[in-house]
Amino acid sequence: MFETIVALATPPLKSALGIVRLSGDDVFEVVSKCFSKDLRDISEKTILYGHIVDGDEKIDDVVLLAYKGPKSFTGEDSVEIICHGSPLIYKQIIETCIKNGARMATNGEFSSRAYMHNKIDLVQAEAINDVINATTKEAKNLNLLSLDGKTSDLIRPIKTKIADILSLIEVNIDYPEYEDIEVANKDKIIAIVDELIPQINTLVDDGQKAKIINEGVKVALVGKPNVGKSSLLNAFLGEDRAIVTEIAGTTRDVVEGHANIDGVVLHLFDTAGIRDSEDKIEAIGIEKSKKTIKEADIVVVVLDSSSDLDEEDQQILEYTKEYNPIVVYNKDDNSKQSDKLSISALNSQIEPLINEIKERIGIDEKVFSKPALNNTRQLGLLSKAKESLLKAKEDALNDLTIDLIATSLFDAYTSILEILGEANQIDLSKEIFARFCVGK
Ligand code: GDP
Repeated sequence: MFETIVALATPPLKSALGIVRLSGDDVFEVVSKCFSKDLRDISEKTILYGHIVDGDEKIDDVVLLAYKGPKSFTGEDSVEIICHGSPLIYKQIIETCIKNGARMATNGEFSSRAYMHNKIDLVQAEAINDVINATTKEAKNLNLLSLDGKTSDLIRPIKTKIADILSLIEVNIDYPEYEDIEVANKDKIIAIVDELIPQINTLVDDGQKAKIINEGVKVALVGKPNVGKSSLLNAFLGEDRAIVTEIAGTTRDVVEGHANIDGVVLHLFDTAGIRDSEDKIEAIGIEKSKKTIKEADIVVVVLDSSSDLDEEDQQILEYTKEYNPIVVYNKDDNSKQSDKLSISALNSQIEPLINEIKERIGIDEKVFSKPALNNTRQLGLLSKAKESLLKAKEDALNDLTIDLIATSLFDAYTSILEILGEANQIDLSKEIFARFCVGK
């Protein structure tokens, strides 16, 4: 039994219209008690005009969309109430629905219902959130492909291939009397692993780039005071580029801004400096700077080309060495130092640095338009599947028993299922019976 849940689907603000959404087994029952028309006999998608009432009180005139499950987003009977865009009306409608048997939905519960009813898999569920949160056209397009199921389609052939060999092994073990069934020998297992690994490698490569498009890149700007880090941040955030936020705290804090560079979001952090200090407040800022540097994907050390390097610059270069930084010479207003990466933050001449960052990110246009796994969870599980497959191959080469090799193959299979959110539905016997007429 799926309880009827209710929530506001639009922002809780004044606007022309707002949408209150409901879903659940008895949603038509619940809504019929507070709507001017009866929904209980609805058998297909219906649009109705009427009003929401609380007893004798009319709350609002609304347009109501009733979806008969399973032809709905959640797969359940669902209702969308389009009302006037007043926070007071939203509140009253929701309260009335609750009074009549609905309960407030928890975060993401509509999507999780859709997932539970197999309307979407886990990759698609993640994409819903990412489509909404995307700040670049490229990230949004990538996630729309995932939402369409195109990213999951990349994984399914791998899942099928592993399931094929696993079921063959199971049949060989469990039904040795079936002589007409192919034998799952070690050479066959090695051949399948050899076929799958390059496919997985491509998915990982594309996935890492897609993850950058989806999540952006963290860039730490490091340098002693007055080299021009704030000016550089401002140069990055020039027109069409987003907000600067001062993270709450002391004035010597890390300042963050976001810039869109050819469809990739750079999360830029202007650090406070890293020299040792007795001053307590400064020391806190320095700790934060060090943490920012550690967590950054790219570290940019800013030097002042208008003066000689001093000990503090050297210390910064030494400290950041292990992060393979991009070293940039600022205040080169007349492009004197052409052999070095020279910029003028003040004049917004920062193309050489942008090009260097782009080179490090390594994204080409093709990545933007094709589906790809695109987050840490998906890519982590894919790597796990790869390791398990390689382990199966190694065990096969070392002539271990088939059932031991099958353990690693099963691990790989589980990881792939976890990407799609299907690991709780493993039923290998179904796979077997679907492929062979065993037990006929
Ligand atoms: P920060 O302390 O590293 O953040 O440095 P600021 O961005 O506050 O800059 C320190 C000073 O250097 C300011 O007076 C800036 O106007 C100046 N400055 C920054 N970039 C340039 C540049 O490219 N050329 C010149 N001539 N001055 C710059």
